[in-house]
Amino acid sequence: MKKSRKQLISRLIAALLCFAALLPLSGCGEAKKTQKEIFAMDTLMTLTAYGKKGEAGLAAAEAVITSMDKMLDPELPTSTVYAINNAQGAAVVVPGQIAKMLSTARTVYDQSGGALDLSIYPLVKRWGFIDGKYYVPTDEEISADMGLLCFDKLVLNSFPSSGSYSVTLPAGGQISFGAVAKGCASDNAIAAMRQAGVTSGIVTLGGNVQTLGLKPDGSNWNVAIQDPNNTASFLGVVSVGETAVITSGSYQRNFTDLRGKTWHHIINPATGYPSSNSLVSVSIICEDGTLADCLSTAMFVLGENKALNYWRTYGGFEMIMVTSDNRIICTKGLIEKFTLSNQSYTLSFSE
Ligand code: AMP
Ligand code: MG
Repeated sequence: MKKSRKQLISRLIAALLCFAALLPLSGCGEAKKTQKEIFAMDTLMTLTAYGKKGEAGLAAAEAVITSMDKMLDPELPTSTVYAINNAQGAAVVVPGQIAKMLSTARTVYDQSGGALDLSIYPLVKRWGFIDGKYYVPTDEEISADMGLLCFDKLVLNSFPSSGSYSVTLPAGGQISFGAVAKGCASDNAIAAMRQAGVTSGIVTLGGNVQTLGLKPDGSNWNVAIQDPNNTASFLGVVSVGETAVITSGSYQRNFTDLRGKTWHHIINPATGYPSSNSLVSVSIICEDGTLADCLSTAMFVLGENKALNYWRTYGGFEMIMVTSDNRIICTKGLIEKFTLSNQSYTLSFSE
């Protein structure tokens, strides 16, 4: 998954600034702090644990993230996803992490009318978002790749007696976990830290954050939400307990074509083009990081009104939506939790 140097540097800076924004907001009493930066999944990640078990916790967290990275890279011939995409319709044995991502993604696929579709990978690749060779496809290319959408035909089998799973994808179809891998990685990193005995910690995977317990002084974490209009800054802060805060945004990866039109990396499976609605970012607050990551992408594609209807129908998460005309719409569970820090936005809460 190679990216252009310029893009990589700007994403590194964005991740650093995002973390810098987070740090002063989550200052942490007297507990011993252990911190590690790693680069995986094309993302700068910062892992932080408090207390005596910190070093063991971070080593365990790093190990699970590194192994997921190797398992999920669709361009790496030794990865499980590569095996699925090249099995020509044969079943491939997969680990529980992949099964969990697939079943969560399938639920969100069904409930969102296909707004999240992991089989969109051929189109993501065609637009150049995998190798950084950006390109605006022709209508013919878009309809050819749309013909490869097949997430509804993917079969996930579970074998409870052996605790194993298998996946069958129609020949020609290709999936990737770009929309969900970081949420699952933060889930697994937090679980690994907890198993190692850590009771307070936080991981930031690019702009995505997941927490373990509370801050060492027993108070909530304050997570900064990046400002899409100025990625060096943040537009507000959300106060949370143990949860994931996961953001999808058009500012996170995009390119401008020779005519001056900017295209971003979240594709609407209904059109084959980058989704085009009033949203510039969506942050999901949900205890399950895998679900939060599926939802952030799906709600971004659905747009403001359909996303709110989804939340009203299914619930189980809170949401911060930012629009291109500088509105911030939060779901009502955030009334006491979200604090605006950039007054150029107007804030409202939705029922
Ligand atoms: P996220 O940042 O979690 O919203 O994920 C965006 C990434 O998921 C993109 O960079 C693509 O690799 C992939 N992707 C883009 N559009 C979709 C979609 N509609 N459904 C599933 N994956 C997508
Ligand atoms: Mg996502």
